[in-house]
Amino acid sequence: MANERTLEVPIRGMDCAECVAHVQHAIAGLAGVKSVDVFLASEKAVIQLGPQGADLPTIRKAVEGAGYSVPETAQDDIPGQPRPTDFTRSILTLFGIVFAVVLFIVVVGEWLGLFETITSRVPWPVGLIMVLIGGYPIFRNVIRAALKRQVIAHTLMSLGALAALLVGQWATAVVVVFFMRVGDYAEQFTTERSRRAIKNLAAMAPQTARIERAGEERTVPIGEVQVGEIVVVRPGEKIPVDGEVVSGQATIDQAAITGESMPVEVGTGSKVFAATMARLGSVRVRTTHIGKDTTFGRVIRLVEEAEAHRADVQRIADKFSAYYLPVVGSIALLTLLLRRDPLAAAAVTVVACSCSFALATPIAMLASIGAAAKAGLLIKGGKYLETLAKADVLLLDKTGTLTLGKPQITDVIALNGLLQAEVLALAATAERYSEHPLAEAVRVAAKERDVALGQPRQFEAVPGMGVRAEIDGHRVSVGNARFVPEATKLPLTTELEAQGKTLLFATRDGQIIGVLAASDTLRAEVPQAMNAVRQLGVRQIELLTGDNERSAAALAQQIGVNYRANLLPEDKIRIVKEYQAQGHIVVMVGDGVNDAPALAQANVGIAMGAAGTDVAIEAAHIALMREDWTLVPEVFRIARRTMRVVKMNIGFTAVYNLLGLTLAAFGILPPILAAAAQSLPDLGILGNSARLLRRK
Ligand code: ADP
Ligand code: MG
Repeated sequence: MANERTLEVPIRGMDCAECVAHVQHAIAGLAGVKSVDVFLASEKAVIQLGPQGADLPTIRKAVEGAGYSVPETAQDDIPGQPRPTDFTRSILTLFGIVFAVVLFIVVVGEWLGLFETITSRVPWPVGLIMVLIGGYPIFRNVIRAALKRQVIAHTLMSLGALAALLVGQWATAVVVVFFMRVGDYAEQFTTERSRRAIKNLAAMAPQTARIERAGEERTVPIGEVQVGEIVVVRPGEKIPVDGEVVSGQATIDQAAITGESMPVEVGTGSKVFAATMARLGSVRVRTTHIGKDTTFGRVIRLVEEAEAHRADVQRIADKFSAYYLPVVGSIALLTLLLRRDPLAAAAVTVVACSCSFALATPIAMLASIGAAAKAGLLIKGGKYLETLAKADVLLLDKTGTLTLGKPQITDVIALNGLLQAEVLALAATAERYSEHPLAEAVRVAAKERDVALGQPRQFEAVPGMGVRAEIDGHRVSVGNARFVPEATKLPLTTELEAQGKTLLFATRDGQIIGVLAASDTLRAEVPQAMNAVRQLGVRQIELLTGDNERSAAALAQQIGVNYRANLLPEDKIRIVKEYQAQGHIVVMVGDGVNDAPALAQANVGIAMGAAGTDVAIEAAHIALMREDWTLVPEVFRIARRTMRVVKMNIGFTAVYNLLGLTLAAFGILPPILAAAAQSLPDLGILGNSARLLRRK
């Protein structure tokens, strides 16, 4: 396995969904290539190579053979290399204007019979030359595909242009060619736009860092910073790395990660993230992650990869194109045979371009995913938006998700002759290395009461139950009643549980020594968020928790949902599966750390407050960068809005093309107008999908 490697190769010249397939095909055919993913928006191919994998020159040759290129020097992959897109933008605006003017001239000119006059006055070879020059890039692609026995979207239209030329209507052929080019540019524009969205996002990370080396401050390119080095951040500066504050205090604007502009206070020990900004104050940060490994870097990568998860709708659109083109070809042939009208047949081939169908889904998905990423919602693929729009069951995790995740120990009851401080010391020592929020609560309680911690040996955490450790030769466990069966015999616990508290029982050498009660605060926005989700059509909402029956009931009642208590992590997975077996589509919201398996099992797993927790970002299908329950109904809304736009795009294109085909076949729509007409749905799709870029 040692010789396997992954290669990231930048690809230039791709501007449509078809191109992706071509490049993929070209690379996949090479020796030693195990798999290849091609990304349109980020313009690259990620290739898994086996031991005798192809080298870069071979890959470049294959890519060039397919009609695309690999730039000589691979760009370095640190986020934030903005490329000049303003130029493209102005060119495209210009194109829009030219397009509108030509459309106008064509329609009015046809109406006035202008084209017939021109065709009869200007000699035919002049027209032929115009068509060949103008249409060269398109004809080249069509012929190249034809040599590989492939039919592409422009094949039929090119035939139409050829037919028009043959019957002497060269003006029509010129117009057809013109609109094919415009269509290409429209597609490029949208791809460019989503590329720009990602690049804008990437450009938010600073490119240099001020580090302390050998007692001196130096500014170095971000790529030179090492993990563990101290980075100095001054007021008004962006933080270049992920890390932990070692000194100083600052007010940080984390909008780049969380979408939330309300600044947060950080001090020694706080985690800070790359691409966030110190508004006031200055901090020294010990670097924990740089570049691609930062939370920000992951977000960029995942947004890029979101493209790879093509939604089912997209596959349907692809399949559809595969049937669509032959059908259109047959209609054209029939028109020619039955009506003996070559011009009508040409109009049929020209009016029915499948490009719009290919564009309908990915453009809407990309627009939504890009806009959401800026608002702190990381959606890993269009597929999840599609599933979410149909979901009818929502399952919630409790600890660390619904609650603030900072439980506090309110009562410490010492039993069997021990002192409170002794119980706390043993419990906190046992919990010393646990990452559970309750463990943290126990440690905080010990610290507050100045109880010194010992060193646990043979520490073991049992998910959903508690912890076990050996302390000074004694076996100590801390956990819930399932974990400590002796606890059920205690009479004093019902009252605490009825207050909604979580009880932790501590034992030493099998003997119960104390009870700790923890209370956690429900996040204020939860009840409203639940109502909103219910109004969006989610019929079943259920709280799943490993906590005790009574505190689960108290909480569930506050937010008006059903609940199941005393669950182990595997019970949660089982419940998700049960719902799925009944045909439900299940969304699960968790913290993504100790409930990662259940999140993965759900149709859509949403991790709450994922910024800074790598596992959560990796495990979830959708990661919410800040702990804010209003984002949950929001993500449902985004999904629905996106699918509405997708359906509109497809429906509109279908109706439009059907109408166009009919009019063309009956000779009502002359080829010249057909050419103009076919490019309109693209613009409609663009405009319609662009609505998703705006956030309400
Ligand atoms: P939830 O399902 O509410 O998110 P968990 O599955 O994380 O909660 O934990 C369930 C229960 O297991 C907790 O309420 C607690 O009683 C017990 N527990 C889990 N981990 C620990 C720990 N480190 N220390 C003490 N108790 C724990
Ligand atoms: Mg939990």
